[in-house]
Amino acid sequence: MSKSLKSHISIKHNNFFATKILTIFAAQKSEKMAGKITLTMIKPDAVKNGHIGNILADINNAGFKIKAMKLTQLSTADAESFYSVHRERPFFRDLVDFMTSGPIVAAVLEKDNAIEDFRKLIGATNPQEAAEGTIRNKYAVSIDANAIHGSDSDENAQIEAAFHFAGRDFYNY
Ligand code: GDP
Repeated sequence: MSKSLKSHISIKHNNFFATKILTIFAAQKSEKMAGKITLTMIKPDAVKNGHIGNILADINNAGFKIKAMKLTQLSTADAESFYSVHRERPFFRDLVDFMTSGPIVAAVLEKDNAIEDFRKLIGATNPQEAAEGTIRNKYAVSIDANAIHGSDSDENAQIEAAFHFAGRDFYNY
């Protein structure tokens, strides 16, 4: 659906019917993207160290299309929820403290084989083990401050995309 039609519907018909149509279009778009998207976050260290532009260039050069993107900052509750799978791990508090320590860039990226290809592009969790030329190899500081997040499965990509973005935040181009 075009942006102008979308704004026409929301401005002229700001009612239950309009909301319903937008929800249906959003669901159709997300169905088409299943298996082709990943969610990334450029983490607070990389944002503070001025790496947003270089990291986005690496992402574009690797063939990923940015479908939705924003600069934002996680609250403690946000970070605890996003990383709830790690709640029992010894590094959980450090992870939450770090992820809430400054702004991040969240984005949904589209490409065939998105999950696997993006994990290859970012490199191993510990930057000391990340392959030469990967984003973590080039820009990460430590295992906590490891520059970037990438979803680890198609299912988690859908959940993480919905965590950060609403249907209207996605663009086709
Ligand atoms: P990822 O998918 O490569 O980001 O790794 P995980 O999902 O396993 O972990 C989430 C984040 O927790 C990682 O990106 C690290 O920042 C952090 N983390 C993971 N393992 C460790 C660890 O053993 N020690 C510490 N300090 N942080 C860790």
